[in-house]
Amino acid sequence: MTGRVIVITSGKGGVGKTTTSANIGTALAKSGSSVVLIDTDIGLRNLDLLLGLENRIVYTLVDVVEERCKLKQALVKDKKNPNLCLLAAAQTRDKSAVTAEQLKGICEDLQKDFDFVLVDCPAGIEEGFKTAVSGATEAIVVTTPEMSAVRDADRIIGLLEAKEEIKSYKLLVNRVRPNMIQSNDMMSVEDVVDILSCDLIGVIPEDTGIITSTNRGEPIVNDEDSQAGKAYINVAKRIQGEDIPFLDMNEPTGFAAFIDKIKNFLGLNKKSDDKE
Ligand code: ADP
Ligand code: MG
Repeated sequence: MTGRVIVITSGKGGVGKTTTSANIGTALAKSGSSVVLIDTDIGLRNLDLLLGLENRIVYTLVDVVEERCKLKQALVKDKKNPNLCLLAAAQTRDKSAVTAEQLKGICEDLQKDFDFVLVDCPAGIEEGFKTAVSGATEAIVVTTPEMSAVRDADRIIGLLEAKEEIKSYKLLVNRVRPNMIQSNDMMSVEDVVDILSCDLIGVIPEDTGIITSTNRGEPIVNDEDSQAGKAYINVAKRIQGEDIPFLDMNEPTGFAAFIDKIKNFLGLNKKSDDKE
């Protein structure tokens, strides 16, 4: 077996790489694929928290590289999905603890046993980025519809283009707020796609449920009522080759209407633009 190695990257920090890694990984595993998630954000790890696995980590990526354990010993099984594993980052070291060559070797080993190896990349375009992409042949570039994030995504796309091993990269636009797009207060997904001229793999709405799901250590794809969860499940399906239409962000979605209802209830809306 030769699994696919996909790096989740962005340039800018805080746009949703780790959230995306946890949710796509969980969704792919739920659909029956075997998945290993690698946290390469050494020193600032948090993929373990999002998966609720922080208390189960014995060995990390750095322990594997420094030969304190075998690769298999460092893989932490997810509590719910037996075909999902995490290779955690060390918290007490820095990005130089793992080289690009070393990570590439680990990805090659994992590719033999898993359908998908998903690499959660640290922010920036320096050493940590170069290491994270070293074993990948595909990339998902995460951005939010903000100029600063889009500019950094553009930079990352330039670097991915220059990397021969990367055969394809796709764009995921996160934290989209249809109401703000409608009132011209937010860049539309089409604008972002135009600026970056990159194929889309997903559009994820802003969803406060993501914050509570992070705190609970349970990815939002496990919540069947969540729009963001559904959007992430759709991303996983597209990765597996299914042709799934994108959410239409020009019309108020059920999600936008739902938020409006809550805002109305709390008296936060000056005027309701709920068209349902
Ligand atoms: P990164 O890994 O790129 O630094 P994270 O995945 O850690 O970003 O996300 C940064 C913050 O944004 C987290 O607090 C996360 O809960 C929040 N967040 C991410 N995506 C969404 C979303 N679609 N809706 C609401 N909050 C989100
Ligand atoms: Mg992160």
